[in-house]
Amino acid sequence: MEYTIIQYPALPSAYTAQKPGRRIDMIVLHATGGVKTGDLWTLSGRDRTHLVSCHYYITKLGEIYQLVQDKDIAWHAGVSFWQGESDCNRFSLGVELENLNTGRDPYPQAQLDAARWLVRTKVQQYRIPRARLVRHADIAQPPGRKTDPRGFPWESFVAQVYADVAPGPPPPPPSTPPTEEVLRTALLDAAYRRARHVYHPDWALHQYAIRERLGPPIVPLLRFRAENRDWVAEIYGVDAICSPVGGWQDIRRLSQLPDGELKRAFRQEVYRALGVAYHADWAFHQYADRNPIGVPLSESFRLTLSSGESYSAQIFSLDTLISPTGQWNTVIPLSQLLAASQLAPRDAELRDALLQRQYQRIGAKYHPEWAMHQAAIRWQVGAPLSNQERIEMGRVDYVAQSYGRDVLYSPEGDWGIVKRLSELL
Ligand SMILES: [Zn+2]
Repeated sequence: MEYTIIQYPALPSAYTAQKPGRRIDMIVLHATGGVKTGDLWTLSGRDRTHLVSCHYYITKLGEIYQLVQDKDIAWHAGVSFWQGESDCNRFSLGVELENLNTGRDPYPQAQLDAARWLVRTKVQQYRIPRARLVRHADIAQPPGRKTDPRGFPWESFVAQVYADVAPGPPPPPPSTPPTEEVLRTALLDAAYRRARHVYHPDWALHQYAIRERLGPPIVPLLRFRAENRDWVAEIYGVDAICSPVGGWQDIRRLSQLPDGELKRAFRQEVYRALGVAYHADWAFHQYADRNPIGVPLSESFRLTLSSGESYSAQIFSLDTLISPTGQWNTVIPLSQLLAASQLAPRDAELRDALLQRQYQRIGAKYHPEWAMHQAAIRWQVGAPLSNQERIEMGRVDYVAQSYGRDVLYSPEGDWGIVKRLSELL
């Protein structure tokens, strides 16, 4: 049977366009976990909060849609590794099947026939070896992160695809990714998840954030309008970045924007997303505009010491600002107190109270005796962004915590060892 491939082009913002000539030597099969209408919307980049796409989509009725051209990189595999290489989107075709991925939702015969025809055609066109026709679950990192396509009759499907395709060279022995690389991607993936966001290794904003060491993300993707254009934005511990929709290589940092409409609109959006009111006339906010202290994490609050002296303070991702009540123009950064080798008892009490507040904000407790909390102060990585989380890696598990400037992690049970994600980047 011959099939018609229905063209349903994804928005240019949902894939990476390539000059002709990219290597294609792998096919990844997926199940969407959804149904046709929503699937096509999402996979073509129209649901702007989920930046995913694929080359082909096959419905339960056996209709075949093409969303991204073979020569372009679609975003379907996410953090992945196969036969010695990571980021499998670069050299693979992504084929999504309409299926709820419950393991019980059936793959009707019409869908299996269409999938077999398409995959066979591509296997022959690109001479794809048997060991490089894979399921998403086979390549996702860390292992177990993806289960799709669940319930798919894999063995018989592969056998049928290769039934009379000339056998290629034998597959190389299976290899495992270098531990550091798996750990790095697992930590990145988890850091984005903690911010209710999704890490896309192919996405320009994420590549920029990693290259420029912007620290972990704080919130999901934002959108706003300024200068008659739509912008997408992300907030990281070190800075907020934005990019005009469709112009992904044009990335601006909030801290480096000249005064003007874009800066005003962007800053307003950043404060709003973080749930903090911006006051242009406040000394704290003027200080934050002029100094690299990251983005606000709390409203300003009052702090009273045992002596009765009171202060107002506001937590930013890279530093916390303090001002004695009534002296609003005196702004003291907490980092000054943390760096001092000797502190008056009053200043030490102030320092400890503020550290306590930083951890309280995320529903945790400051433990001065914990190696990770000590390291956060020593390395000046700013305030904690989220509570500790366990990262399962198989042989050794880790506990990770996002701070403004970096993610810190320790091997479980070996709490004295504290490391930084930035050293793996
Ligand atoms: Zn998948």
